[in-house]
Amino acid sequence: MRRPIIAGNWKLNLTIAESRQLAQQLADSLADITDRDVVIAPVFTALTTVAGVIEKSPVQLAGQNCYPQITGAFTGEISPEFLADAGCTHVILGHSERRQLLGETDDFINQKLLKTLEAGLNPILCIGETLQEREAGQTLKVLDRQIKGGLANLTAEQMADIVIAYEPIWAIGTGKTATAEQAQQAHSFIREVVLQLFNPEVAENTRILYGGSVKPNNVDGLMAEEDIDGALVGGASLKAEDFIRIVRFAG
Ligand code: PEP
Repeated sequence: MRRPIIAGNWKLNLTIAESRQLAQQLADSLADITDRDVVIAPVFTALTTVAGVIEKSPVQLAGQNCYPQITGAFTGEISPEFLADAGCTHVILGHSERRQLLGETDDFINQKLLKTLEAGLNPILCIGETLQEREAGQTLKVLDRQIKGGLANLTAEQMADIVIAYEPIWAIGTGKTATAEQAQQAHSFIREVVLQLFNPEVAENTRILYGGSVKPNNVDGLMAEEDIDGALVGGASLKAEDFIRIVRFAG
């Protein structure tokens, strides 16, 4: 059985004071959670504050990005080591906003992923197609390229620390969720590609999250699908009540 994981991507939102308040609400309300992983990704400036707030709770901390170097002359960048130093256990990599707005390539994301593993953190590798690609029947081809590029040069053992997030770009922040069937179809394909790349055990154990307008009213249907092991949540992770309900999905 794969342990579910619900991750909240706060993106470029919430001041340090606001982040502290939301983290405190989550830490208080989710203190009893033992059967699933809960991860939140605040802005970098709020990481240490939030780390202190959630320290004794089941809630874990993620960076929203990192640079594939440990230390040195990389002005404005942050490395996985420094994220770990701030209290992170996870890092979101290859989010579609970074691929689209900052031109991140599969190769660059793969370099980050390898450095993240070296630092002992768990990467959450985001992949997903645009609406144009879906309508052109390219979805599986795009996913195949992103998985193989993102997971290049990894060993089967290292896959135990990797989480994949399928996030169709047309569903992110748009209120349009993929149907549970559409998501399941993509997840099952992703597991198939992981099988080709590694082995049946890795394919069976790899956790694949769905992301794209996950809300309290659709999480249960998504989580009921065989190959959906959790959610990466943007907008709804900024509201304590909504995120708590998503973490407590029925299943
Ligand atoms: C995301 O940013 O990864 C995301 C899925 O956002 P939203 O839930 O707002 O669609």
